[in-house]
Amino acid sequence: MAIERTLSIIKPDAVAKNVIGQIYTRFENAGLKIVAAKFAQLTQAEAEGFYAVHAERPFFKDLVSFMISGPVMIQALEGENAVLKNRELMGATNPKEAAAGTIRADFAESIDANAVHGSDSLENAANEIKYFFG
Ligand code: UDP
Repeated sequence: MAIERTLSIIKPDAVAKNVIGQIYTRFENAGLKIVAAKFAQLTQAEAEGFYAVHAERPFFKDLVSFMISGPVMIQALEGENAVLKNRELMGATNPKEAAAGTIRADFAESIDANAVHGSDSLENAANEIKYFFG
């Protein structure tokens, strides 16, 4: 299996809930290594740039406002099938549809405040890691 890297963000709602450590433990138990990390308050421009692909979507403004509403924890994860593995750990975008035991089922409140971001493809992962870690 391929060793991949993916970008993960623990969003402001989960940081505020004080569950960074619990989420990191899930990455570690799944064999994903944290190979870069930073705790950051995103600027509006950074959040808009990161979610540029969603710029035309109706939820874009609220998403950007939410992402800058408090600090986030950003990390690059490395491991076998890291992109898919992280998506499986996260669960569905809407926590009401997320499988039991996933991060979003356990820590997220709503589709807007849904605890974590994870790259959805290897190509996006490379771009997103570059966006935050150069
Ligand atoms: N989002 C939202 N309302 C929606 C769909 C998405 O607020 O109806 C937000 C949500 O925070 C989601 C992010 O936009 O995590 C990016 O959406 P995407 O479809 O890429 O979901 P993800 O990859 O995060 O599961």
